[in-house]
Amino acid sequence: MSNAQDILQSVFGFQAFRPPQDQIIDSVIAGDDALVIMPTGGGKSLCYQIPSLVREGCGVVISPLIALMQDQVSALQLLGVRAAFLNSTLDATDAAEIESSLRRGELDLLYIAPERLNQPRTLSLLRDSTIALFAIDEAHCVSQWGHDFRADYLQLSILGELFPEVPRIALTATADERTRGEIIRRLGLEHGGHFIAGFDRPNIRYRIALKHNAKSQLLKFLKDEHPNDAGIIYCLSRKKTEEIAHWLTLQGFNALPYHAGLSTQVRATHQSRFLREEKVIIVATIAFGMGIDKPDVRFVVHLDLPKTIESYYQETGRAGRDGLPADAWMIYGLQDVIKLRQMMESSEGSEEHKRAEQHRLNAMLGFCEITSCRRQALLAYFDEYLAEPCGNCDTCLEPADTWDGTESARMALSAAYLTGQRFGVNHLIDVLRGSEGDRIYQFDHHKLTVYGIGTALSNDQWRSVYRQLVARGLLSVDLDRFGALRLEERCRPLLRGEEKIELRRDIKQKTAKRQTRTPLPSDVDVALWEALRDCRRGFAEEQNVPPYVIFHDSTLQEMCVALPSTLERLADISGVGERKLEKYGPAFVRVICDHLVN
Ligand code: ADP
Ligand code: ZN
Repeated sequence: MSNAQDILQSVFGFQAFRPPQDQIIDSVIAGDDALVIMPTGGGKSLCYQIPSLVREGCGVVISPLIALMQDQVSALQLLGVRAAFLNSTLDATDAAEIESSLRRGELDLLYIAPERLNQPRTLSLLRDSTIALFAIDEAHCVSQWGHDFRADYLQLSILGELFPEVPRIALTATADERTRGEIIRRLGLEHGGHFIAGFDRPNIRYRIALKHNAKSQLLKFLKDEHPNDAGIIYCLSRKKTEEIAHWLTLQGFNALPYHAGLSTQVRATHQSRFLREEKVIIVATIAFGMGIDKPDVRFVVHLDLPKTIESYYQETGRAGRDGLPADAWMIYGLQDVIKLRQMMESSEGSEEHKRAEQHRLNAMLGFCEITSCRRQALLAYFDEYLAEPCGNCDTCLEPADTWDGTESARMALSAAYLTGQRFGVNHLIDVLRGSEGDRIYQFDHHKLTVYGIGTALSNDQWRSVYRQLVARGLLSVDLDRFGALRLEERCRPLLRGEEKIELRRDIKQKTAKRQTRTPLPSDVDVALWEALRDCRRGFAEEQNVPPYVIFHDSTLQEMCVALPSTLERLADISGVGERKLEKYGPAFVRVICDHLVN
């Protein structure tokens, strides 16, 4: 039995643990339970993989992500780890084969779907075998408060009862206080260590821009910044994902839709193309993404506003798991707010539930409108404190301008009030700007004191004022009246002149000042980079795994910089373990030597 540090280097090819991986691994090896909350990309897998290799017996990983088990297992096998999975995709013969190798003690890691684990047959199999640990992945699924509740997960409480001597480690990327409490209670982790790693994802650049022409903004973003990258684009509706994917294809991108209304077959194909091919863009509803551990997703776009900061954080978190720069880019406008408020209002559920949803949406809106560092705000939402502005979000990079919107806000509110709180934003702007439209005369609105007093602001500027008033809860959207704007209690002090309001100045179509950001450092030879990628693609196709399973982009990048011309030197590169060195090393060294000679 070798120790954790040796395994990290020899099997995984990494030099050092990322804290708190080492603490977690030590405590699980010692036989303690653990709860691990770590952001996506933080390195949760090693926390159970290494103890499984160190401890006697097989580590059993419970994961709801059946579609990904095959890839996870292939990746481990390439490292020389004896891994297998048991789920409904296996036929009886293969399953029996795996069961007997577990009994014979010939497995290091076994991935099992939760519904399978709860079957008597599986439980007796586990009783007959030596189990190193139970890892419960996506542990938030056990929580009825969470967004991904799965009834199968409730049964997992039997693990502690049936196997009291086997350590349990529960892992998830997102869990607020309440969810954490529920995980601890249901999985019986009261006596174990609770490890909560920071939420910060410093390599992700957060940007939120005003939506004016979604398609052309998106196209510009992709062309300027990610012409050759893999990414995810989130939309609210199924129809829209298909529309956008189709349209992007016409623009020359490799885009595929993904939503719960597509057949299982189509979804599986699209997901696997996203994982296995390079430069594929998935246009998806929130149905896509849980557990997708593709490390080289370079951007996550939101074309529609997420309902909560939690979802925003989780969805954007799928970018840049490899630690290289990645973008979280969102556009939003007043229409999004109205649409979401409508959806919430008409959703099923108790008043209390709706109020909670509104509350979360308000937090999300506040996040969109802030003029200070987005990362500080995002982390603060998760009770984490970042001392300095981050320097890697839009408000840090191009500080937002504010203006004294007190006068304009009063006019905007008065217009809503004087027209009887029965009209939507377009009409109110018509009133303020003194439009000559039919509807103005039809309702005698040209006689109002507010008629025509707002010509100093453009249409867009007024929309911006209204959006911010809605976002801050001074106005609400009346859903029975097609988006009529109504005054809220909170606007009184402003109307009475007791309060001032600072508004954000919207910047139209930010010009991308940055160069196209491929993840390549500037001094790297592009020809070598491409040659290494070709070499990687060859192996990936041969072994039928995604290219990143062979080597990550970051590993290839290090090769480009360090130019290792011998196997010994290649072994120093992060991500090159013994097994991969032996298998792929010679081919990659050859590519590098050829490059050095030419
Ligand atoms: P999570 O499950 O937390 O989202 P993973 O376990 O998939 O994250 O790890 C994210 C990436 O970080 C993986 O590509 C993994 O190989 C890499 N990684 C994890 N731990 C280390 C480490 N100590 N050193 C270098 N790379 C690491
Ligand atoms: Zn910032």
